[in-house]
Amino acid sequence: MSDQHKFLLDESRLPKAWYNINADLPVPPQPVLHPGTMQPVTPDFLAVLFPMSLIMQEVSPERWIEIPEPVRDIYKLWRPTPMYRAVRLEKALDTPAHIYYKYEGVSPVGSHKPNTAVAQAFFNKEAGTKALTTETGAGQWGSALAMACNFFGLDLEVYMVKVSYHQKPYRRIIMENFGASVYASPTDRTHYGRSVLEQDPNSPGSLGMAISEAVEVAATSGGAKKYSLGSVLGHVLMHQSVVGLEALDQMEMAGEYPDMVIGCAGGGSNFAGFTYPFLWKKFTEKKNIQVIAVEPASCPSMTKGEYTFDYGDTAAMAPIVKMYTLGHTFIPPGIHAGGLRYHGMAASVSALVNHGDIEARAVNQLETFDAAVQFSRSEGIIPAPESAHAIRVAIDEALKCKASGEKKVIAFNLSGHGHFDMTAYEQYLRGQLQDYAYPAEMVAEAMTHLPQVPAMG
Ligand SMILES: *Cc1c(COP(=O)(O)O)cnc(C)c1O
Repeated sequence: MSDQHKFLLDESRLPKAWYNINADLPVPPQPVLHPGTMQPVTPDFLAVLFPMSLIMQEVSPERWIEIPEPVRDIYKLWRPTPMYRAVRLEKALDTPAHIYYKYEGVSPVGSHKPNTAVAQAFFNKEAGTKALTTETGAGQWGSALAMACNFFGLDLEVYMVKVSYHQKPYRRIIMENFGASVYASPTDRTHYGRSVLEQDPNSPGSLGMAISEAVEVAATSGGAKKYSLGSVLGHVLMHQSVVGLEALDQMEMAGEYPDMVIGCAGGGSNFAGFTYPFLWKKFTEKKNIQVIAVEPASCPSMTKGEYTFDYGDTAAMAPIVKMYTLGHTFIPPGIHAGGLRYHGMAASVSALVNHGDIEARAVNQLETFDAAVQFSRSEGIIPAPESAHAIRVAIDEALKCKASGEKKVIAFNLSGHGHFDMTAYEQYLRGQLQDYAYPAEMVAEAMTHLPQVPAMG
């Protein structure tokens, strides 16, 4: 074991290929269904939204997919990212556990999201796409894609959830700085947006609605625009594998191997990016490891949702996927400040939770911010509220070690910094945040709106 606190890789250690867990999944993948016919989707249907190269990645059985040089060149602006041992946090907790974290907040926009934004912009550019559409919640994804589109000379239209558009202007301005056009969703620019506004002119919007708008614009553009998603899809999770591949090397530098790896999960991309390379070691080399995905109690898809086929978006235009879901009609409670608001969960994460390889945990909002503040006071970094969900569980596990005397090695992904989330911190520090557990009755009600898919043989 090393007594270093900081584990840095030089540029030559930047991964040359992404890890594709399709090659090692212990359960066969479930088909992705067309939202209209409910039959397995054809590449033609997906080709309206995505370039063929990304569709092929989505279904590829290859374990390694080469990272194109132009993508690696841009990655080198901030990658490899550092990994730290949280020595000061260990001291503050008085735990015998060793706590490590991988820090993705050093990217230009402050989160892991550029890892896939840059790749998606590249493959679209290569396929001749001129413009992309996307949705964004708090703006992390929109700002990552805006930066990437700017690098590759693509236009970008962002449908930003209306409450965030008004309450979180700084990320919108970052997107505009990179040349993107940003609209408060629901908008009057789409059929779907107009139908929502007719029923509720004051709709605050949701991620599901914004996805529907961005998909509609691309699908009706006659091929001029493609659509890009920042989480949930297999190719997105795969692009994030650079995080965990670097972390494997960095744990080797530290001379330890984690007993558990932890990530927060909204759609599942930073969690999968960090943990799947460790699952690769488990599946192929029998290196046992506990893998924990953490979600908010107010948006508990894995811990309270059902594992079933559901639409990827609110308007039922996106493909139907087998996943843990709260129902595509889910609208997150207004008092929830911590992000991670998607109604479903990536198909492979869902399958691995269902199969028992990944453990899902839900944490409450107040204990999450409590962990965030404690972390910042020890380590100096103010975490994104999303990332704080992972910190909460890392601290809980370190405290269990304190009680039992076990010297476990705990590693988590710090997916981003919280510099644009100070309003949420302010609410927390002033005692204005409350806990809210999403009610089981609302999940049960939403399950009555699931697509009626034919039995799969
Ligand atoms: C978007 C985001 C998340 C949640 O998305 P995943 O796809 O689940 O990773 C988590 N952390 C940060 C900092 C984010 O920006």
